[in-house]
Amino acid sequence: MDLKQPRGCFFICDIIKVGDVMVANVLVELGAKPINKTFTYIVPTDFINIIKVGMRVKVPFGKKQLHAFVLGLEDNAPTDYELKAIIEVIDEQPVLNEELLSLGKYISDTTLCYLIQAYQVMLPLALKAKINKRVNIKKETYLDLNIELAEIDNYQLSPAAKRIMDLLIDKGSQKKSDLTKISASSVKTLLTKQIIKEIVKETYRTTHHHHLEYKKVELTDNQLKVINEVKKHLNKEKPFLLHGVTGSGKTEVYMELVSEVIKHGKQAIILVPEISLTPQIVSRFRSRFNDHVAILHSGLSDGEKYDEWRKIAREEVSIVIGARSAIFAPFKNLGIIIIDEGHSTTYKQENHPRYHAIEIAKWRSHYHQCPLLLGSATPSLESYARAKKGVYQLLSLPDRINDKGLPKVTIIDMKDEIKKGNRYFSTLLIDKIKDRLVKQEQVILLLNRRGYSTIVSCPNCGFTHKCPNCDISLTYHKKINMMRCHYCGYGTKKLTKCLNCDSDDIRELGIGTEKVEEQLTKLFPDAKLVRMDIDTTTRKGAYEHILTDFKNEKYNILLGTQMIAKGLDFPKVTLVGVINGDTSLNIPDFRSGERTFQLLSQVAGRAGRQDLEGEVIIQTYNPDHYSIECAKNHDYLGFYNQEMIIRRTLRYPPYYFMILVRILSKDYKLGLEASQKIGDYLKQLVNDDMIVLGPSTANLYKINNIYRFQCLIKCKDKAKVIPILKDLINHYEHNQKINIEVDIDPIKI
Ligand code: ADP
Ligand code: ZN
Ligand code: ZN
Repeated sequence: MDLKQPRGCFFICDIIKVGDVMVANVLVELGAKPINKTFTYIVPTDFINIIKVGMRVKVPFGKKQLHAFVLGLEDNAPTDYELKAIIEVIDEQPVLNEELLSLGKYISDTTLCYLIQAYQVMLPLALKAKINKRVNIKKETYLDLNIELAEIDNYQLSPAAKRIMDLLIDKGSQKKSDLTKISASSVKTLLTKQIIKEIVKETYRTTHHHHLEYKKVELTDNQLKVINEVKKHLNKEKPFLLHGVTGSGKTEVYMELVSEVIKHGKQAIILVPEISLTPQIVSRFRSRFNDHVAILHSGLSDGEKYDEWRKIAREEVSIVIGARSAIFAPFKNLGIIIIDEGHSTTYKQENHPRYHAIEIAKWRSHYHQCPLLLGSATPSLESYARAKKGVYQLLSLPDRINDKGLPKVTIIDMKDEIKKGNRYFSTLLIDKIKDRLVKQEQVILLLNRRGYSTIVSCPNCGFTHKCPNCDISLTYHKKINMMRCHYCGYGTKKLTKCLNCDSDDIRELGIGTEKVEEQLTKLFPDAKLVRMDIDTTTRKGAYEHILTDFKNEKYNILLGTQMIAKGLDFPKVTLVGVINGDTSLNIPDFRSGERTFQLLSQVAGRAGRQDLEGEVIIQTYNPDHYSIECAKNHDYLGFYNQEMIIRRTLRYPPYYFMILVRILSKDYKLGLEASQKIGDYLKQLVNDDMIVLGPSTANLYKINNIYRFQCLIKCKDKAKVIPILKDLINHYEHNQKINIEVDIDPIKI
């Protein structure tokens, strides 16, 4: 028998002696603190010819029954003590193929997560080793002929029955539900007479409609240059960075490369930051590749995800477009991986396993020997630095497709406007909005804060109304008349008196989208305005509705948080206004400058994308900040050079790797003590290539009643530090009061 051992997987197996049976080494999920070890079970003879590595089985475990992944099989394994037997083999085909089995090992090694977590994250819920939830396969009943054509004349048929028979003869089997619409009684009669028969088929829940007509474009010389460069390396592991300004035709380049890849019988993965926010890229791919495209994202139900996954595994599609987890699409012959907006933070998973989709993409591009293309108008400093060093090949699309160029950006100093009494909108922005309303063009307004007022405080004593569970100010939401915590969801009534000094002079500070919406309605009572943020898009499909209605010009103004900044391509948008360009500058994170530059460049890129010229107004209290200045001048390189100087001086990425060690405890004192011990321990290991900062309290020092402390490691060589961290995690493994979280290459600190 063929004993497929997953490549690169080795486990501590129980030592087994004497006997003559087949045993399986299986991995189970055991609650919050699992163990990285397999358990051994006997494979009953009935299963010997069915069971394969990568399948799920049901096993007895203590008093419970658990689902487990089979990671190894041993024939003729000797055994001298009682092993329990596998109860059931769940799958007909392995859910983890050889590639995913070894990819899981890589994820566990590089993110320091448990192997079981790595496997679970790669699979849709229906295929995880979990016993509690079942996701069904949808079945549909079809009807088909049950007699030879020549026999038909032997039967007396009603006109309705005849119509049904004609349909089946002409078009083959039909959905039962469609035929009963013609005549339910005829269907019944035909079935009882056994003239027709029922066939139950597996179907997919996901039905896709595409309305967009595919318009073939004449590729520009710049686009062709990029395409040809990638084409030269289609059968190689090779990373490319495509630096292309907004509207430079990157998506067209992606489609051309994908078309080339599938012509060779291979498959393509395209990642986008958040699929419901970028519906246009999906419809463009659909219009060109029709049913070859599967979609994977968090907006799908578990059943729908399972269906899309099966289409991929069965190779019924050759393209998948999806958010982060689509990087695990089980294609067997990948020809290219494309990551659009490669700088986006959504590609890093924030809880275990803390993997980055780009790292997974590199691993798979090596495994399949295919290129990896990272596209962005504002590449992360890390990837641009790699491109400069030649680790990635740099490709560029420096110009917009339309000959209008990038939109003109005007910076407004809000310090001056405040003096004039303009708290929310500068005079210029108001004038420009008026102008667009008259011309019947459209406006996008960005404010990266939701709610009505973001701080409620007492000027008398300085008290701020904070969440009792988290170290964060509550935001007032006027529509529901509640104070809300944006971290834990805590809600309470608005104060009428200060909790601290009893003063009733409670002030609201800080503006959110709800307040700006109210002000806009006052200023422009005739304008049709729509707000898009988490609060207005909780219903399924809400994003799509708002965006479609905006595209169809049901609205003049789209106001929203950063969710409106990405990938939208609306020809009538000629004005983009940023209400407060500083929201991301004020975040205490070394990447705040980079985030601000990215966000402003991105939202600016929504203006004037087609025939009409666009312009952008950014309101700010920091008009001289280089992030804002460079965004104004569309000057990526200028930003890159300035920011790199800071990164080098302060020894931040990409000059040093960063690792965040977070110490979590419900008990402040215990957490503090543990963090000091860990800080001391790490500091004694410091060498020339390694710096340890802290311990300190995290930026949000309490979330959901858990205190958070952290140490920050900067190092030149991650591989040297990882064993130390493994030890640390092991040391606290059984400590119920302290949790250690290690985040390697954190995206937020
Ligand atoms: P990006 O992805 O860089 O933002 P897109 O691929 O969306 O750019 O291109 C911007 C617009 O230009 C789209 O409407 C697209 O259809 C159009 N476009 C792209 N390439 C061409 C081309 N070669 N000729 C004409 N129009 C093009
Ligand atoms: Zn007070
Ligand atoms: Zn809270």
